[in-house]
Amino acid sequence: MKVLTYHNIGKPPSSAKLKTLYVKPWNLKKQIKALKLLGYKFLRSQDLLKSPKDRAVLLTFDDAYLDFWENAFPFLMEEGVPALVFVPAGLVGKFNKWDYERLKVKKTIMDWQHLKELVSAGIEIGSHSLTHPYLSKIPEESAKREIEDSKKLLEDKLGIEIKTFCYPYGDYNQKVRDMVAKAGYLMAFTTKHGSFSKSPNLFEIRRITVFGNDFLLKFIFKVLA
Ligand SMILES: [Zn+2]
Repeated sequence: MKVLTYHNIGKPPSSAKLKTLYVKPWNLKKQIKALKLLGYKFLRSQDLLKSPKDRAVLLTFDDAYLDFWENAFPFLMEEGVPALVFVPAGLVGKFNKWDYERLKVKKTIMDWQHLKELVSAGIEIGSHSLTHPYLSKIPEESAKREIEDSKKLLEDKLGIEIKTFCYPYGDYNQKVRDMVAKAGYLMAFTTKHGSFSKSPNLFEIRRITVFGNDFLLKFIFKVLA
């Protein structure tokens, strides 16, 4: 079983750096159709708690960009495919303040109305902290606030329980991991590469990042591997 990581779904602006983190909508569609043809099941996060089957994937989308709403959500609905979106809760309705200067592109993040509609449509929401910092590199108190307050803010605004966390930049250490567990999350996702079954525990879940230049066969091999 694999947890797949996507970031932007769309065509990268010509000025953007890290273009490989943009997967074109057409490619996302081909990938999902191919997984269906191969008999894959699409899971929700809670399915990870009961040793999931091999031919299964959980789709995760980091950073909650508006292009998820525009380019992925309608297709996922059409196909009846669930997904988990990780939201930097302090930046809802704003943009990628944490890396826009480095990447030379401002990317809009969905607002509360978008997120509410995703929730009603059955898309899962997880926390991606408040402001997307390197959690192991900031004072412990700030890290605690990022982890706890993002959960509370999302829960208050969306009226659902937030059970999943995703480490910004995949950055964590044992202290950060324990804080996430203590805050009441049931699981947390890293950027470490690998299948779910190779994850050391539910707070260090491994994923497979899908890149914009993964051609279809390469994508399939990554999922099958
Ligand atoms: Zn992120």
